[in-house]
Amino acid sequence: MTTVSEPVEPGATASLGGRGLRSVEEARAAVIAAVPGALPAETVPTEAALGRVLAEPVRAAVDLPPWDNSAMDGYALRAADVAGATPERPVVLEVVGDAPAGRPATAAVGPGTAVRIATGAPVPPGADAVVPVEETRPIAAEAAPAPEGPLPARVAILVAAPVGYSIRPRASDVAAGQVILAAGIVVTPAAVALAAGAGVASLLVHRRPVVGVLATGDEVRRPGEALGPAGIPDANGPGLRSLVRTAGAEVVDLGVAPDELEAVVAAVGAVLDRVDAVIVSGGVSVGPYDVVRSAFGRLGSVGLWRVAIQPGKPFAFGTAARADGRTVLLFGLPGNPVSSFVTFDLFVRPALRVLAGRPPMAGRLEAAVLTEGTKKSLGRRAYLRVVVLRDADGRPRRDEAGRLLVRLAGAQGSHVLSALAAADAYAIVPEPLAEVAAGTVVDLAWLEHGERT
Ligand code: AMP
Ligand code: MG
Repeated sequence: MTTVSEPVEPGATASLGGRGLRSVEEARAAVIAAVPGALPAETVPTEAALGRVLAEPVRAAVDLPPWDNSAMDGYALRAADVAGATPERPVVLEVVGDAPAGRPATAAVGPGTAVRIATGAPVPPGADAVVPVEETRPIAAEAAPAPEGPLPARVAILVAAPVGYSIRPRASDVAAGQVILAAGIVVTPAAVALAAGAGVASLLVHRRPVVGVLATGDEVRRPGEALGPAGIPDANGPGLRSLVRTAGAEVVDLGVAPDELEAVVAAVGAVLDRVDAVIVSGGVSVGPYDVVRSAFGRLGSVGLWRVAIQPGKPFAFGTAARADGRTVLLFGLPGNPVSSFVTFDLFVRPALRVLAGRPPMAGRLEAAVLTEGTKKSLGRRAYLRVVVLRDADGRPRRDEAGRLLVRLAGAQGSHVLSALAAADAYAIVPEPLAEVAAGTVVDLAWLEHGERT
């Protein structure tokens, strides 16, 4: 274990045992304060905006529907003509035209007449209701009661229909010019459909953050590389890049660097002018091989932060300036893989959200009950990897007060990837506790990257 002997930094919390640890909130606030704000906006085709944040309100370009249209296959007619229609006493109308989808009706509807109409076709002038084809009977011998096929000469209407029946009025969904999506929202599949359906072909959205990811460590091997007597496969590079991608940002893969100052400076320096943030894993303590802090110091400014979290202490954070003047955020995350995930979630993810134009936190905490006890480090906030108990149908189980029931996902060491991968959520245990008994009520944060079904 490494001992950190540096003086307490400004902003560090004396209250946490006087050990110079920053609280999670202080550390996050300092990271967010260094984020230069949302990235500039760009116009992209509506479909390409999926998952990105709107930089301005979106207004409908057309009425939706653009005209009164039919909700059914049937006959467009005048409601007054069929007011008394029943199966026993149908009203017979002359069929004067056809209105297939995508073409205007071939005739208007006058008294005693009807136009055959398809779902989605414009309602012909003169008609004020549509009777579904199932409630009609064609009169010409060869014609079948179907929306296609020969047009019958006449049609028997078997039911009455109120004015407006089976008609979707123009602009009943949205009107041209109306704001249909607010600035600041994430473009969902439904938002893509709404904007496209309202005739909006492109959207102004914030640029996605671009994030360089580098794993460091003399022992860290690339995929497929022989491990030799003291090597380990790289878990953090692939894991952190996956976190970056699922957070909606773009990745620049910087591979693996040895524990050498020049190598880390070269790898990060090579991409500094085309990224918004860099994440380096490993080498952030103050051991003789921990060069990341010095590397960040060469590229910009940096501090080593000891944050009151378990796992995850310590991590390095700094900033550098790009050639174009923009700020690059520099994150040095602990090498233990679970620590790198937890510090990503607590500090990197909020910063990426702000860069993307979102608020820093998703803010979805639930109450949960730990069904088994465990120990933790006094003075640090623990983010236990837990599994939510489920009934036979897969529904989360809750106690009588509605709190979720959770168990540990496995061993809680900061190297235990199997428990991280099994986990549904973090159970958050406050700093002042050294252990938690079974039955303790905790806050639960669902893993944003943990959804497995
Ligand atoms: P460090 O933060 O460099 O002191 O590393 C802490 C622990 O994490 C050590 O056991 C490292 O071998 C391990 N570690 C560092 N980087 C990685 C990585 N990219 N993948 C898997 N384990 C790592
Ligand atoms: Mg190391």
